[in-house]
This record gives sequence, C-alpha cells and structure tokens, in this order.
Amino acid sequence: MLEKKVETFNMNRVIDEFEEMTRNADQVQKQTLKEILHKNQSAIYLQNFGINGNTTDPEAFKALVPLVTDLDLEPYIKRMVDGDTSPILTALPVPAISLSSGTSQGRPKFIPFTDELMENTLQLFRTAFAFRNRDFPIDDNGRALQFIFSSKQYISKGGVPVGTATTNVYRNPNFKAGMKSIQSLCCSPDEVIFSPDVHQALYCHLLSGILFRDQVQYVFASFAHGLVHAFRTFEQLWEEIVTDIEDGVLSTRITVPSVRTAMTKLLSGPNPELAETIRTKCMSLSNWYGLIPALFPNAKYVYGIMTGSMEPYVKKLRHYAGELPLVSHDYGSSEGWIAANVRPRLSPEEATFAVVPNLGYFEFLPLSETGETEERPPVGLTEVKIGQEYEVVITNYAGLYRYRLGDVVKIVGFYNKTPQLKFICRRNLILSINIDKNTERDLQMSVESAAKRLAEEKIEVIDFSSHVDVKTEPGHYVIYWEISGETEDDVLQDCCNCLDKGFIDAGYMSSRKCKTIGALELKVVERGTFRKVQEHFLGLGSSAGQFKMPRCVKPSNVKVLQILCDNVVSRFFSTAFE
Ligand code: AMP
Repeated sequence: MLEKKVETFNMNRVIDEFEEMTRNADQVQKQTLKEILHKNQSAIYLQNFGINGNTTDPEAFKALVPLVTDLDLEPYIKRMVDGDTSPILTALPVPAISLSSGTSQGRPKFIPFTDELMENTLQLFRTAFAFRNRDFPIDDNGRALQFIFSSKQYISKGGVPVGTATTNVYRNPNFKAGMKSIQSLCCSPDEVIFSPDVHQALYCHLLSGILFRDQVQYVFASFAHGLVHAFRTFEQLWEEIVTDIEDGVLSTRITVPSVRTAMTKLLSGPNPELAETIRTKCMSLSNWYGLIPALFPNAKYVYGIMTGSMEPYVKKLRHYAGELPLVSHDYGSSEGWIAANVRPRLSPEEATFAVVPNLGYFEFLPLSETGETEERPPVGLTEVKIGQEYEVVITNYAGLYRYRLGDVVKIVGFYNKTPQLKFICRRNLILSINIDKNTERDLQMSVESAAKRLAEEKIEVIDFSSHVDVKTEPGHYVIYWEISGETEDDVLQDCCNCLDKGFIDAGYMSSRKCKTIGALELKVVERGTFRKVQEHFLGLGSSAGQFKMPRCVKPSNVKVLQILCDNVVSRFFSTAFE
C-alpha cells in the first residue's frame, strides 16, 4: 500500500480554522453547496431535476431537488455498483462503494465513497484531535491503542471495490499518514488491522497494546461496544497474552500467516519482566475496575462513540476506565461526517457535537414532540432553533442530495454560528403494534430503568434486543436480555414488569390497559448469545469496528431470531397491567 508524506499538524492553526469557519457558517454553507453543484454539474441525477452549472442558490436547489431516502437512491447506486461509470449521481470518480453496517437500519445500504469523503474524514479527525489535544495533551512519539478492523473488500460484478466505510478509510493510502500526523499511530502492525480473522486481530491488538504499554496515549474503538468487547475478551484471555510475552512465542491461536509473521517480529523474544508486571497488575485489580489505566499507565483518555445506541455500554466502560476520562467520538455515518466533539471534557451523557459547515450542505427537518415530521420544510444550518428536534438531511460531494439520514438530533446551542447538537436516536420506530410508537431510545430507557432492579442484585445487563411478536393475539413486545449472573425468578419478574411500565408512550400504555397489546415478555438468554449474534453479522460482511447490536429483530431476520430463541433460558410475562 502506498504511504503518503506526513503533513505537520498544527493544533492552533486547526482550531483557528474551525473558529473562522464556524463564525461564518452561513457563508461557508452557501460556498460548500456551490462547490458541490459545480463539481457535479454533469451528474445525470441533478440534470434530471433541471440543475445546471449556474445553480448556486440554495433556494433554487431546494425548489428543484426533492428530499430523498436511501430507498429512493438505491436504483442509482445499484447501477454504479454494477459498473456503470457514467456520472449517475456524481461527476467525481467513485473509487469504492461503502456498505453501511446495516445493523441500525436492519439492512445494509450501499453509499458512494469518494476521495472528497476521505479528505472530509481526515479533516474531521484533525479537528477533533486538535480540540482533544488542547484539553488532554498527549506526549510526542506516543501511540494509540486502536481497536480497528478492516473487513474484507470485495469486487462487485461491475468491478467496483465494496467494503464498509471504515474499511474504505483504513485501506485508503492517506489514512496512515493522517494518523501519523495527529500522533495517533496504531500499536498494531497493518497486518493485524487487515487480518481476515477478527478474533485473531483483537487478540493481537491487545497484545500489541501491552507491548507498547508505556507509549499508549489513548485507547480507541469507533463504538463503545467495541471497547467493552475488547476488554471483556482481555478478561478471558489475559493469561495467554502474558504467557506469549513471557516466552516470546505467539499463541497457536494466531494462524493467519501474515499476522503471525508481523506479530512474531513485534514480540521479538521473551520479556519475563513485562509479563510479571502485567500479571501482578491484573491480579491486584478488584473485579477488573481500572483495567485500562492499569495496563496503560500513560493513557490520557478513552475515546469512542458513547452516545445514542452506545449509551448502554458506558457504565461498563467507565468501570474499565477507572479514573480516566471517557471522550465521546464525533458524529458521522457512512454517508459522511457531520459534527465534531469540540468539548471533549463533557461526559458521554452530556456530549454535544458542533456541525462542521464545510463537510456538506446540511438541512434540518423539524420533528414534532412525538417524532413525526412536521408540515414545515427543512431549515438551513444557521436557522435551527435551540431545543427543537430535527432529522438531519445531507447533501455531499459523493452524490447524495437532500438525503434524509434517518437520525434525530436535538439542537442544544451554538458554537459561534454553527449548531451544537445532541444525538437523540435513529428515527425509525422499532417497536410498534398498533397506535404505540417506540424508538430505540424508548427501548433503551425502559431497559435502563429495569436494569436498576437487577443492579440491586449486583447483576448487569450485558446486552439486549427486542422483537414484536404478532403471532400471538393480541401482539406483544418481547425483550431479550443477556445478564451477567443468576438471580431469583421474582427479581426477573420485577424486571419484566418494570420493562413493561418503562414504555411511557401514551399509545403503548393505553393499548396495554385495554389489552389490545398483550403482556410484555422478557426472555433471558444464555451467556454468550449476543456474541453469537455479532458473529452472525460479521459473517455477513459487517465490520467488527462498525458493529451495532440490532435493538429490534424483524420477523424477516430469521437467523438472528433463531439464535436468540435457541438460547432462551427463562421467560417471564409482565403482570404490570393486571
Ligand atoms: P453506519 O450506518 O454504520 O454508517 O453508522 C452510522 C450511524 O451511527 C449514524 O447514522 C448514527 O445513527 C450512528 N452514530 C454515528 N455517530 C454517532 C454518535 N456520535 N452518537 C450516536 N450515534 C452515532
């Protein structure tokens, strides 16, 4: 792989540029739209709507081009995947297609990936790093323990490389230089990041991190789930890792030849002293509290997405992180980056993101209090109102025009003239039988409140999902829980009632009272079940780093439902509305 020259990073300059851009957010937005339309003036999609090189005015653009969803663009993107090289959505070259994880929407989507999106990614990384480094400066020549995994890229029958967005980023020749310039070089050799086997890659990331333990400045995974998964795995495998270090011989579990060669080189002989240090540290911890700073004494923070659907993992992450600050990673998607965390000191519960005005042209579709789209048209970046919730609409360089992202955000303030937002949830309802409407966030809140009862027994919810069972009459919600220990049935019965009461949507409560929705069912699954669900998705090509647990399993997802159902160890029906 080609490596680019490393640019010198200047923290103050990056912050100044961001300040300048956000002070002029409105002009920057207009200029960004103008450039997008200019660069894509020969795109067939835009021409079909009467856009030509002279369209520069946002109002004209909005009047001509409709709001769309991923479903509307699917046929266009399919032509690109099938090898049609005419300028279908974008006039710019499309060297790869991103495959979104598909776990948030229930099915994978294809999205064009261009050099501009890569440049946007690096810009966002630089901006976020500048603000992080101002608050939590890291040492020169440090490294980052990054749990990153490049899943396989395949070549479509039309000859286009297809991979997850993170895979397309990690495989880009500019990635490594970009990481070096922000002093975030990974501990692991490239062979580990590109390992075809994610379990072996995770083991090697942990081992590499320990070999560089004094240099590790921060610990990162894209999503908090990935961080928690990594350290849960460490709990199980630490003795094997320590033996590798002690003997200077890599475990036989690492079988991928390129990974074995690279890791053997890194191990470079026995190191009994380091092995003893790690052994002593691990054995002195109480229930693994503070594991991360114990392993990495110079780490300044732990970094990853901890908001939205990642909130349920924060408690466990905080346990592993001990006193180390948890810094929320920025806000973006396979479709492009949107906003940076420029207030890294805020806890994950308080984290907000400032929209970066040159990453795309952004519109905000007002939502009513019940989450419905209001009759009002979308507003521009600088016209949003504090306290109001919106769905994000994005126009970017890579062929998405007025594209509804499906995410709900709340405006909590402004950073200069650009909105500062809080991620609320995915827009789509996941639980609905008749007049009830519950989003992922509603489910999360219900689980959170029921988990408090479990916590009284010193047991935690490791992971959860749900399903709408309409095979029964009336239909009812089923919640799947994997929990960290055993407890009495009456405790779980309380939790089940609490889950049922935890859905405070008026439609749900009234339907439960008049029994047009049946009693909520709690199904407890065996330990390791959600790992099997993750394995299933990885087998389908989703990347370990981008993985998000599906919070609702649709009846069409027969395989996942089967994994969950096959592993049920106990079930309870709510008596909360009797
Ligand atoms: P993907 O579909 O795999 O590209 O994932 C993108 C989705 O992840 C976004 O549309 C959001 O729903 C979610 N996401 C990304 N960044 C954040 C964040 N900082 N907080 C919460 N959710 C996020």
